[in-house]
Amino acid sequence: MVWPCPLTVDAYAAAGRDVRFPRLDCPGCAVPMTFWSGYLRWVRQAGCCRRIFVPRLRCGPCGVSHALLPAFVLAWRLDAAVTIGLVIGQVAGGACGVRPAAERAGVPHATARGWVRRFAARAPQIGAGFAALAVELGGPAVTPSAGPRRFALAAVGAAFAAAAALPGWAGLGAWRFASAVSGGRLIAANITSPFLVVGKRRFMPPIPPLPA
Ligand SMILES: [Zn+2]
Repeated sequence: MVWPCPLTVDAYAAAGRDVRFPRLDCPGCAVPMTFWSGYLRWVRQAGCCRRIFVPRLRCGPCGVSHALLPAFVLAWRLDAAVTIGLVIGQVAGGACGVRPAAERAGVPHATARGWVRRFAARAPQIGAGFAALAVELGGPAVTPSAGPRRFALAAVGAAFAAAAALPGWAGLGAWRFASAVSGGRLIAANITSPFLVVGKRRFMPPIPPLPA
């Protein structure tokens, strides 16, 4: 599960376990879950690796626990969502090839190529899901454009633009938004269609950061 954490990677890493984590309801049975340990993982942004704490939430009735990821990461990816999103946006949008985008982002060429390929493979689902979310959030309908990758990009942009009109979302940026509403699975291998999150009450507003 991903929550729309408004903190920067550095601020989140520095706060450690003192981040004000939201206590979410179980996605299976809607019962409030309880915090249940957690683990440390790495995040890379701007060439810098930070270790962050990821809490786990557990549902008693279901006996299932869920990791609670901040929206600046994607599940199973070392690099920050914004880094991945910028590379995808440049390449899928036709601004440049993978190699210059990877160099600008400071990531290996093969890593960036993997993101772009996965985004391309998932583009029809991403496009459909985010276009539907854009409409559900009161935005305009996104018309399919030149190719599925550009349609997917346009749909993410339209859904974020619609969300940015709601309290709290504008500051997150499109790629943290995309991570939050896709449950961190924007470019994951398994497609679970998590995009229509409004109806399932997973579209929560960002929570203000804890004052210093
Ligand atoms: Zn449950």
